[in-house]
Amino acid sequence: MIYLDNAATTQMKQEVLDEMMPYFREYYGNASAVYELGNKSKYAIDVARDRAAALLHTKAERIFFTSGGSESDNWAIIKAAQMMSDKGRHLITSSIEHPAVINTMKALQDEGFDVTFLPVDEKGLVSVDSVRDAIREDTTLISIMTANNEIGTIEPVAEIGELAHEHGILFHTDAVQAFGQIPINPDEMNIDMLSASSHKIYGPKGVGLLYLSPKASRIRSLIHGGGQERNKRAGTENVPGIVGFGKACELASSTINERMQRESELRDYFIGKVPDEIPLTYLNGAEGRNRLPGNINIGFRFIEAESALILLDQKGIAASSGSACTAGSIDPSHVLLAIGRDEDEARESLRFTLSDTTTQEELDRTVDILKDIVGMLRSSNVLYQA
Ligand SMILES: *Cc1c(COP(=O)(O)O)cnc(C)c1O
Repeated sequence: MIYLDNAATTQMKQEVLDEMMPYFREYYGNASAVYELGNKSKYAIDVARDRAAALLHTKAERIFFTSGGSESDNWAIIKAAQMMSDKGRHLITSSIEHPAVINTMKALQDEGFDVTFLPVDEKGLVSVDSVRDAIREDTTLISIMTANNEIGTIEPVAEIGELAHEHGILFHTDAVQAFGQIPINPDEMNIDMLSASSHKIYGPKGVGLLYLSPKASRIRSLIHGGGQERNKRAGTENVPGIVGFGKACELASSTINERMQRESELRDYFIGKVPDEIPLTYLNGAEGRNRLPGNINIGFRFIEAESALILLDQKGIAASSGSACTAGSIDPSHVLLAIGRDEDEARESLRFTLSDTTTQEELDRTVDILKDIVGMLRSSNVLYQA
């Protein structure tokens, strides 16, 4: 199998699993307990927190473990909006956020918050000027993703954060796609709250983190209960998950430069090769440094992405359309619509996302198979015939 859906999830590293294993049966103690078995868990969580903090060039006390990227997004946005609601009820986000942000914002709209969904340009970039124009007296929170999950566009978060701070506005970023893939330093990038997830960086599923700056650490809990995570996130800690996430962070820190180099070369190789082999294609998103190293998103005129994905799967290739599939059809991606594609175009695009083990041979084989599949789908498309 050729797995090219690493933006959806990654295969856990063997080293990560090895590090987790003792915490299922051997060291199963509750980290809040006083006896030695509990201390083993507590210590393991401390180590994981240090490793996660190191990847963000920050202090361990700024890191709060959660059940994943979605919970971190919900927590940051809901609780920051509520904390600041005496000052105002206007929130700013982009129109290309992950559903974990978009749908959280919509839930707040139902509670009476006023949300501006900023447009993006044809590459998927949020302009700093558009953020400046959207800021009002009553704006309390801006949430703009670090990098987009469908088209890989890297947003100017440092500048947006700076602007937010000039106006006393809290700044959250969904960094789930960028975390461990490109360097991030929340302090230097004016980030108050940052969401990340373990399973996108070769760690286990069901664990993530929220980074909170000193200013943002006043936000209240989303999950109420016991005093875990310094009274900020209740629930008995997922010790094996947190240990695995910590190991994944450590591996990510030590390999980030070589992975960025290698994956962007492979990405550009594929992006360059497809139009040479297959006519009538186009790239969605930005080129070069404004794009995540492992993200490729290409439109193929006169095909249906959904049919192509099924045929690719039959040849052992796992790819994605980038947007949610519902039975029998692919909803046109809100991200592709936001960059100006029409509904047909939004249904003819495929996303290929690389891992640190993807090879050039795998990409060559994928292009060969794509060429056949696209040719076949076009030959049965009356619009293409005409
Ligand atoms: C995957 C993803 C999420 C959700 O993270 P989970 O850990 O799966 O809940 C949120 N935002 C982005 C950009 C993502 O890619």
